[in-house]
Amino acid sequence: MKTIDTYNFNGQKAIIRVDFNVPIKDGIITDDTRIRAALPTIQKILNDGGAVVLMSHLGRPKGGPEEKYSLKPVAVHLQKLLPNKIHFVEDCIGPKALEAKTRLNFGEVLLLENLRFHKEEEAGDEMFSRDLASGMDVYVNDAFGTAHRAHASTTIIAQFFPNNKMFGYLMEKELAAMDKVLHNAESPSLAIIGGAKVSSKIEVIENLLSRVDTMIIGGGMAFTFFKAMGKNIGKSLVEDDHLETARKIMHKAKERGIELLLPIDSLNASEFSNDAQTNITNIDNIPSDMMGLDIGPKTIDLFDNIIRSSKTILWNGPMGVFEMEKFMKGTLEIAKSIAKATEEGAFSLVGGGDSVAAVNQFNLENKISYVSTGGGAMLEYMEGKVLPGVAAIRS
Ligand code: AMP
Repeated sequence: MKTIDTYNFNGQKAIIRVDFNVPIKDGIITDDTRIRAALPTIQKILNDGGAVVLMSHLGRPKGGPEEKYSLKPVAVHLQKLLPNKIHFVEDCIGPKALEAKTRLNFGEVLLLENLRFHKEEEAGDEMFSRDLASGMDVYVNDAFGTAHRAHASTTIIAQFFPNNKMFGYLMEKELAAMDKVLHNAESPSLAIIGGAKVSSKIEVIENLLSRVDTMIIGGGMAFTFFKAMGKNIGKSLVEDDHLETARKIMHKAKERGIELLLPIDSLNASEFSNDAQTNITNIDNIPSDMMGLDIGPKTIDLFDNIIRSSKTILWNGPMGVFEMEKFMKGTLEIAKSIAKATEEGAFSLVGGGDSVAAVNQFNLENKISYVSTGGGAMLEYMEGKVLPGVAAIRS
């Protein structure tokens, strides 16, 4: 398999699938993290003496052009970040796109208009993919967030570059971080799974149960486990149709000798509101008219001890309703413990929309070994699934 580092792009035109799905308000990009994240791959190709064609989706257009989903502002922004000439073309396929690709000089960049202005992108259409590939010598995929979709630009296009396809730096880093946790974890290894529902994470939990030494389950989903154990959980969130799922998970953990840890105390609230009356009780004493919205202080201490003695840590899903200030502490303290463990030499990987948002909100992103950019793609990879966008390069 070719890698971006060992490939010489001199005299080559490379098409890169990037993730430029950035927030734009009134034509202004309000967060350019994803654009800046793509720069190392773009610069490597340009510095080698190659030319770069960029393709991405933006938002959810309905299959035709829509001004508010145009990538044009991204081209303008990119020109502020790179000294090289940036061109933009108002379609990603067809004669205009081909002409722009043909005219493109080495050392220059061409950004194609939003891929999803054509419904063929998400349909994984072969003719559309061929059109994207036309005039190009190399295909680079650097958009991990869409790697779980067999779209034209993420998967189907790869077949037109049987000997010249590779991952970009971002995607290489992302895969290396996840493979480290899944296949190469230094012991003791720990997975911390939280969030609202166990139903959305059953497969992740099951796959991780054969890969880690310890698993912590926190957040709303823990109450389905407590109810399955016969405990009174008051008005806490519960999935009654998944009590059996919870029992099976506990059974599997026991069978495999994996320590499964649940909260031991709870911060309870009279209602789902930041203005609610609250109290802290042991997990066995949640009042019938209250709901657990965060882990309690004893749990924070218990989890901190486990985290700080782990060498590999994966975290997905908050420990409580961290969006409300009153119920943020559990998630904050867990994030801090992971940051400390990382400082002390552990490898940590945080992924999933809410845990990443929490880490960013607490300004801890630079204290975690790797913060994953791909929510859905990361979960599927962690479930042990083969992602089409990854398989298309590796095959
Ligand atoms: P998920 O998308 O499954 O990772 O769930 C994230 C959501 O779970 C966040 O919006 C949290 O507010 C929510 N959550 C975490 N703990 C609880 C809890 N104890 N009760 C209700 N919701 C929770």
